[in-house]
Amino acid sequence: MSSQSISELQTVDMKKCMPVASNMLTIGLAMLQGARHEHMHSLFQAAESLELEIEIRELRKSSDVEGIDALVLPGVESTAMRIASRSEDLYSAIWELIENKKIPVLGTCAGAILLSQQGLIDTKIERNAFGRQRESFQSEIDVELNGQSKFQGVFIRAPRFTKGSKSPIAWLDNEIVGVLENNIMALTFHPELTDDLKFHAWLLNEASE
Ligand code: GLN
Repeated sequence: MSSQSISELQTVDMKKCMPVASNMLTIGLAMLQGARHEHMHSLFQAAESLELEIEIRELRKSSDVEGIDALVLPGVESTAMRIASRSEDLYSAIWELIENKKIPVLGTCAGAILLSQQGLIDTKIERNAFGRQRESFQSEIDVELNGQSKFQGVFIRAPRFTKGSKSPIAWLDNEIVGVLENNIMALTFHPELTDDLKFHAWLLNEASE
C-alpha cells in the first residue's frame, strides 16, 4: 500500500470520529407545573411547519438549563410553581440564563406572572385579575406579530397587565394581553390550548436566528 493511500485512510477514520454538525434546536420547557404536554405538542407542530429540527429538554433541576436555545414557561399557578422549584433551584438557573444569554422566552399566564415578578419584563401584572365571573373564558383577540391577525385567546384565571407595557402584541378589545419586550414574550392567555401556532413559531424562528 502506498503512503498516499494510508494517509487517505487516516483522513477517513478521522472524519468518522468527528461529531456530525447539527442544526437541532434545544427548547427548554419548565416541567414543574402547567400545560406542559400541550406546549410540547405545539412546539413540535410549529417545528414541522417551519421545517426545523428541535428537541425538547424537560427542565426539572438547575443543571438541565445549560445550553438551551429557547425557553417556555408554562402557566397554571405561579405560587405552586415557585414552591415546587425552590428545592432544586431551577428558577434561579433559569433567571440567570435569561439575563446572561438573552435567549428567546415564551411565558404564558403564570409563566408571564413569574417573568414580571422577577423584573425581567417592565410590564407589571396583577394575578387573578378578571374576577370570579370571568375566571375562565375564551375570546377573539387581535394580534400584531409579523402582521395583524385574530387569535382565539383562552384565559384561565388569567392575570392582567397593569402598567409599563411598552411593546404590546396582543389585545382583548382595548386591553393589552400580550407583550414582547426584547427577547421575552409574555402572554396572559394560553396559546398552547389552540391550534394556532404563531407564538410557538415565533419562539422557534427567534431561536434559529
Ligand atoms: N391564576 C394563576 C396564578 O395566579 C395563573 C393562571 C394560569 O396560569 N392559567 O398563578
